[in-house]
Amino acid sequence: MRRSFDYLPAPDARLPLPGERVRVPFGRQRAIGIVAAHAGTSELPRAKLKPVTQAIDTTPLWDESTFGVLRWAADYYHHPLGDVLFGALPRMLREGAAASREETVWRLSGTGRAALAANSRLGRRQQALIALVGADGATSADIAAAGHGAALRALASRGWLESSQRRPPPPPAGAGRPGPVLTADQGAAVAAIGGALGRFGAFLLHGVTGSGKTEVYLRLIERVLEAGRGALVLVPEIALTPQLVARFRERLAAPVVALHSSLADGARLAAWRAARSGSAPVVIGTRSAVFTPMPGLGLVVVDEEHDASYKQQEGFRYSGRDLAVMRAQRAGVPAVLGSATPSLESLSNAAAGRYAKLSLPERTGRAGKPRVTVVDLRINAARDGLSPPAIAAIERHLSERGQVLVFLNRRGYAPTMFCTGCGWIAPCKACDARLSVHLSRARLACHHCGADEPMPFACPQCASELVPVGEGTERVEAALTQLFPSAPLVRIDRDVIRRRGDMEQALAAVADGRARILLGTQMLAKGHDFPDVTLVVVLAADQGLFGADFRASERLAQQIVQVAGRAGRGDRPGEVLIQTSYPEHPLLKCLITAGYEGFAGLALEERRAAGWPPFAHLALLRADAPSRAEVHAFLESAAAATPPARRGAIRILGPAPAALARRAGRHRAQLLVESPARGALQSFLSGWVEAIAAIKPPRSLRWSLDVDPAEVD
Ligand code: ADP
Ligand code: ZN
Ligand code: ZN
Repeated sequence: MRRSFDYLPAPDARLPLPGERVRVPFGRQRAIGIVAAHAGTSELPRAKLKPVTQAIDTTPLWDESTFGVLRWAADYYHHPLGDVLFGALPRMLREGAAASREETVWRLSGTGRAALAANSRLGRRQQALIALVGADGATSADIAAAGHGAALRALASRGWLESSQRRPPPPPAGAGRPGPVLTADQGAAVAAIGGALGRFGAFLLHGVTGSGKTEVYLRLIERVLEAGRGALVLVPEIALTPQLVARFRERLAAPVVALHSSLADGARLAAWRAARSGSAPVVIGTRSAVFTPMPGLGLVVVDEEHDASYKQQEGFRYSGRDLAVMRAQRAGVPAVLGSATPSLESLSNAAAGRYAKLSLPERTGRAGKPRVTVVDLRINAARDGLSPPAIAAIERHLSERGQVLVFLNRRGYAPTMFCTGCGWIAPCKACDARLSVHLSRARLACHHCGADEPMPFACPQCASELVPVGEGTERVEAALTQLFPSAPLVRIDRDVIRRRGDMEQALAAVADGRARILLGTQMLAKGHDFPDVTLVVVLAADQGLFGADFRASERLAQQIVQVAGRAGRGDRPGEVLIQTSYPEHPLLKCLITAGYEGFAGLALEERRAAGWPPFAHLALLRADAPSRAEVHAFLESAAAATPPARRGAIRILGPAPAALARRAGRHRAQLLVESPARGALQSFLSGWVEAIAAIKPPRSLRWSLDVDPAEVD
């Protein structure tokens, strides 16, 4: 709900502070609420206001500056504050679990000691309890577990035992192993950021893959810890990079907790509590960890800041990276954004002087930069996705005992099933999309809605033969296995990496050299170290060149550079082959001749000319419903909902169908709002959201507002 509700404080009780949870009557039910603010007046008459039933917390859940970030984010993203606050909490806290786990410890009191000295008579049970309590005390839980509950009540009522509250012991700390001697560039980066500790500053750390960015974070965190403060480190996906957390635990002599969505509820709550109490001063987490309360925060790090997973794509659509910078600013500490392929937004912030840019242009290993070549697919026709030059290169590297990485960002056997007789293409019944062929399972599957059906034997229209057209990783795996039968292959994509541990297993086979060929989707391009990979082959670079979305080419360039950066991290030089049908595409050419920075310069010029972010500010109103007409009617009324006088420097484009105009049976369309000024867009949105909320669309229609959308197609 886009509003808050007024309550009276509970009679004769302490006034709960903003950020504390309370139980309240809500309609005919009870609910847990979070106090947003204190008010002196209400729109409701006093007689209609109900008092809070019970306070849950004794102190606010968040420190003041983090609570401020949450309120700011609700405002900026025009999302209901209640959803923002509850979404920022582990599930068990949303359901009322205690925010801190303090234990009750029982000890012998002065009276008790005197009585024992006077040889007062004790029952057998009571003697056992006294023994358990001993000199160090025992917790209520331990006493109950030992079956001494009755004895405890008896001795406590006589005043022989007294209780106090104790914090649980902090999570274990690592050994604090020393790191390597820093390179000159690393040293300069540590000095620049280290000099800014204690005040806000945003730093863009642009370092090629393997240049030692993580080492820079570790050094800075060591300094922050020495000063008695803590660090928040955001990473794109922890489940995919288990080594990273291990490396932090090994290097830092302080408790480190990880916070991410694949933790079980209890573990997540424990990690949150350890962070909030300060007993774990280092938090490594994914996107939503940006909302973790931490006392004495001293540094915020966002690793791989360009990664798309920092933007939440449903519900509260915030950018974890942008909020991390806001959090650092409010806490008065530095924010470090690190990447081998910085986002165009961050590069333009650096160009404008808002971020200080630091570079690590060299790898720490002996290997130089990889050699990049383009394979023109118009001249070198590919079979099963592999061109003759690519096959020759793979053969050469395998025979020289190198490992080979083949990148194709498409899973399944083939993206289409095609009829040779009439041209029929197997469609998804619920989406405007084709079904992908999964040959090993003999199924056709939709990668948009998850529909999954048996593979037909013949064309349902003309009974002719059906053939899979195009290629996915499954097909390339079959081709590579046939071409190189003696080179064991490991495939990494969402069809084969499904359970916890699958990834670790696959990575282990690569690390110990059992696997000679690695084949996979973008899961491969993220954060892993493959020191023995000497050849990287990018099979289909063209997917991103003509994407409908304004960010498509940026994403493509980042993927190519990231995946190429996996090669030759040890001491052997790497080679990169990029297969494309458009070798003279200016962005691709620029990427190959001038590297990521050259590409970024050109891509930013294109964005400026076209009026796309970061040179414009966008918001997207999305809507979907089973009926196409209803979606368009809603968007038409939304577009008309604001008097032109309020529009100022605002342009509204649409309604236009989404790139995937029907998905899972629902029609999808959108309005794009753009403005050259962030402030103008924000003040427009404030009024607009209220106007939209007043429209009463059919119940089956869903809408959402996305401020700074990651994609507009
Ligand atoms: P990035 O985070 O930029 O990919 P890392 O910090 O992971 O880079 O460093 C890449 C590799 O180089 C790691 O194995 C790391 O231990 C090593 N390394 C980092 N800094 C140094 C250094 N100054 N001297 C020697 N080795 C280093
Ligand atoms: Zn047919
Ligand atoms: Zn579908």
